[in-house]
Amino acid sequence: MSLSVSKPYIIAADIGTTSAKTLVIDVREGRVLASHSIEYPLHTPRPDMAEQDPDEIFRAVLEAIRLVREKAAVGAEQVLCVSFSSAMHSVIAIDKELNPLTRCITWADNRGVQYVRVLKEELDGLSIYRNTGTPIHPMSPLLKLMWFRDHRPELFEQAYKFIGIKEYVFAKLFGQLIIDYSIASATGLFNLRRLDWDDKALEACGVRREQLSEPVSTMHICQGMKAEYAAAAGLDAGTPFVVGASDGVLANLGVGAFEPGIYAVTIGTSGAVRGVVREPVTDPQGRLFCYALNEHFWVVGGAINNGGIMLRWVRDQLATQEAEEGRRRGMDPYDYLTQLAEGVSPGANGLIFLPLLTGERAPYWNANARGVFFGLSLFHEKKHMIRSVMEGVMYRIHSVVTALEEATGPTKEIRASGGFARSGFWLQMMADVLGAKVAVPNSIESSGLGAAQLAMLAMGEINDFSSVHGWMQVQQTLRPNAANHETYARLTSIYQRVYHQLKDEFDQIAAFQQEHAN
Ligand code: ADP
Repeated sequence: MSLSVSKPYIIAADIGTTSAKTLVIDVREGRVLASHSIEYPLHTPRPDMAEQDPDEIFRAVLEAIRLVREKAAVGAEQVLCVSFSSAMHSVIAIDKELNPLTRCITWADNRGVQYVRVLKEELDGLSIYRNTGTPIHPMSPLLKLMWFRDHRPELFEQAYKFIGIKEYVFAKLFGQLIIDYSIASATGLFNLRRLDWDDKALEACGVRREQLSEPVSTMHICQGMKAEYAAAAGLDAGTPFVVGASDGVLANLGVGAFEPGIYAVTIGTSGAVRGVVREPVTDPQGRLFCYALNEHFWVVGGAINNGGIMLRWVRDQLATQEAEEGRRRGMDPYDYLTQLAEGVSPGANGLIFLPLLTGERAPYWNANARGVFFGLSLFHEKKHMIRSVMEGVMYRIHSVVTALEEATGPTKEIRASGGFARSGFWLQMMADVLGAKVAVPNSIESSGLGAAQLAMLAMGEINDFSSVHGWMQVQQTLRPNAANHETYARLTSIYQRVYHQLKDEFDQIAAFQQEHAN
């Protein structure tokens, strides 16, 4: 069905951690006409730092907007609006003239790690989490700001505002310091229910309300950008800009995971499970995040560190010869490794892998957790190990899905995306481990599509999201095999118990590793 609209094209801009990605979408059918991406570097002068240059990102965003429109051969006058998606949790200190006093400190920056304990043990962090929906983790701006207060006191005092990367882009374009509810809800400083800054969280980090931007709806529209930037973006200065939301919540919209029990699972390097709810929901144990999509919808879920990176570790460390053999045969090494794993029966003949190599976020939130092969015997070969690593990633997803189900209800369907979805075998394994139907959407540009859908509502072109449901087409559906599911149910239960019984030993081995880091 084709929608009737005032102008046919939306440009969606996604400010990611590695690149600015833009799309031109024909909103009459939700068709992506062109995409473009411009990468920018991540600066890691120390292992616990992960920063970017805000001006480099700003320039990349404008350039990516200009180039994608040119690629699509669409006139500037036909652009209905530009709508934004962005990575969460970034912090930039700025002065009154909007000059950055710091680089953009990304979610991956770990400097605030010592404040996890301070918040949990001294400041009733769990109740702050229940108000803000952001798990207590160094990714959270709340912990980053605590670090700044104690380690950069002059800068902390001097800062006019602390803002995120999307606020920086809008401040440069329109001279306004505004933060959308979605990005705000991932700062650890924003009260989910009052849609305003949270006094207790502000007190915990010593930031004054005036040092933060004004919270606005994700459907807020800015117009009248500065002429020089309109020229750089190749747009009319009057083009409306919809402030939009964060990449995670928009991806749910983009893959149509919007009904109760329809959960979006993304596994790229890391992974995430997310579902949409009509009211903010937090977890009594602090395991899940809850972020705003707009005033009416919230996204609850959990992120894992150890997603596709585990298979990359297998390819680069454990099964290098096999990966090489794959290359020799002219195959993608991942395809060859997964083919070997396919030759082993479900459950890898009783070999269980706990893929916790980089510590873990949801649902354990344990930075000291480490990888474990459990059940190894002389019988097991490399192919069993490969399979058990792939199964282990699914056990991780299973544990987040279980926590999410406790909060928001049973799974009806999974919408799967990310690099792992290139493997039909891994997708089937997900259906079997979770015991749920898995659908794979056609588009990989889910955050950008979600940003365009939100903009359609913001611009008054549609009355609700059901009008754009047709934008997402299911490309492939996998159904669980009952016998395999039974096998996996037995093994997930052992997996959980192994994890819980090793808690103290994880702390001890992590301490040992730190002492013997060189
Ligand atoms: P990013 O998180 O950088 O966006 P991707 O979404 O491209 O990453 O996912 C990369 C991961 O996807 C790899 O680490 C690997 O685990 C998985 N992957 C990529 N290609 C395949 C494949 N052909 N078969 C199985 N897994 C794959």
